[in-house]
Amino acid sequence: MKEEKYRVPDKGKISLKDYDPNDASLFDGNKSDGKEALLKLNKDIEFLQEKMYAEGKHRLLVILQAMDTGGKDGTIRAVFEGVNPQGVRVAAFKTPSPLELAHDYLWRVHAQAPGKGEIVIFNRSHYEDVLVVRVHNLVPEEVWSRRYRHINEFERLLVDEGTTILKFFLNVDLKEQAERFLARVEDPTKQWKFNPGDLDERERWSDYMKAYEDMLNKTSTEWAPWYVIPGNKKWYRNWLIASILRKALEDMKMEYPAPAPDMETYHKRLLEMTLSNKDK
Ligand code: AMP
Ligand code: MG
Repeated sequence: MKEEKYRVPDKGKISLKDYDPNDASLFDGNKSDGKEALLKLNKDIEFLQEKMYAEGKHRLLVILQAMDTGGKDGTIRAVFEGVNPQGVRVAAFKTPSPLELAHDYLWRVHAQAPGKGEIVIFNRSHYEDVLVVRVHNLVPEEVWSRRYRHINEFERLLVDEGTTILKFFLNVDLKEQAERFLARVEDPTKQWKFNPGDLDERERWSDYMKAYEDMLNKTSTEWAPWYVIPGNKKWYRNWLIASILRKALEDMKMEYPAPAPDMETYHKRLLEMTLSNKDK
């Protein structure tokens, strides 16, 4: 699959500067063609998700990580447009509560993992525990540095037990972030999304990029790969993620559960009922 060029290899060392946030090279067409193509993908995803829910066998975990304004919320809205909310859930991870902090950092995460037939989207995730936590020295290095190993093992456990995991890093650049912050601040319906603290995080951009790079290199595994998604062009980001998602759903090779026995008999009876209704 062409999309594999955005997949971070499980062995190897990528450098984020080699990934262009403006890239839109896989799609053959312009922005409006891209939006059109997304509608078709939305329909396919809607159909596949329904089948997944009906079958009740597979689990799918989609992890979204990005800097502020990186497009996590917008991706969820656009990629899952039209899916039946039954069987799809979003889990957003914020600053941990005292109860969450009283436990190990994966405790709250494991509790949100998808059940059979379910798709769960993580808006932020356990990766914050090697990102914001690292950048702000919320725990000593010896503590966060061993978390990569925990995380790989934890995801391995989920995969061994039947979960498919897709991890997307939405890669926007500093210039794009400034424009999106500005748009947020100028729009009364978007101002709620802006925290003054967001600008302090922006000041630490290079520390974050280093933490993201390490995260990508240490936790892109054969069982739970990371994709670096070019994030500056929203339409391309949405189209690309929806394409990867559709492929993952197709690969599950789902089947509808077997129908009740004697379907023929029920069919006949129902035909008779509808026919006799017509006479009345
Ligand atoms: P938002 O996604 O904009 O609503 O913001 C959620 C905030 O929670 C972000 O500033 C994250 O960095 C923060 N956050 C999420 N997980 C953690 C964590 N494990 N430790 C500290 N802060 C976190
Ligand atoms: Mg925010």
